[in-house]
Amino acid sequence: TEKMLLESEKLSAVGQLAASIAHEIRNPLTSIKGFLQLYKKSMKQINSEYLNIMSDELSRIEMITGELLVLAKPQAHHFHNERVEKILDDVVTLLSSQALMNNVEVKVHLEDLPQIKCIASQLKQVFINLIKNSIEAMPDGGEITIMAKKHTSTTIFIQFADQGSGISEELLAKIGTPFYTTKEKGTGLGMMTTLKIIHTHGGTMNISSTIGKGTIIDIYLPISI
Ligand code: ADP
Ligand code: MG
Repeated sequence: TEKMLLESEKLSAVGQLAASIAHEIRNPLTSIKGFLQLYKKSMKQINSEYLNIMSDELSRIEMITGELLVLAKPQAHHFHNERVEKILDDVVTLLSSQALMNNVEVKVHLEDLPQIKCIASQLKQVFINLIKNSIEAMPDGGEITIMAKKHTSTTIFIQFADQGSGISEELLAKIGTPFYTTKEKGTGLGMMTTLKIIHTHGGTMNISSTIGKGTIIDIYLPISI
């Protein structure tokens, strides 16, 4: 964890740059994608294979820029008092069909929590990233257990536990490094942005994992930042 904290600090300047570049790439990208879609319709079968490749590649750039945009510097006025249980609940609902399709059961244990000062859209992104990773780590299905409770008078605790492939010690050290992924279609940006958001919120995150058994992510967030 010590190491992960340092890496995330180094990222902030680079992250800002990445986020502004991502922002500039998004608009032209959206317009190209739109025209490609129109073109595809008028072309019928001819060369649609190439168009599909172009479309897939554009979607990939879109996914990457989308994740990098999360690094954009949050404005102070974006922090509001929110109910984390509500945000968690919404994300679980949002991902329920994806979980179901992958034979994953999501169990949620939520205590009544104090509201915390946060950027709801960013925390939502964190929860989506973590649950998606857990689903992707369990190709044969399994359980994700999400727990949230008050930790101290000033902090809350949120835990995500899965029964997935687990992460080796060697790979654990690389997690959060931009573009580090073991997935064919991964971006390797999810954990980096997750870590960055937690730190922006004044929180900490710990990962513990056992190969073949699963992964546990512990998050501590201050109630007021
Ligand atoms: P991506 O999901 O696009 O690969 P992430 O930054 O979200 O990028 O994750 C980086 C890598 O960390 C993944 O490719 C995977 O190897 C590993 N990882 C993350 N979460 C888990 C998990 N819950 N179980 C197993 N491996 C994980
Ligand atoms: Mg991911």
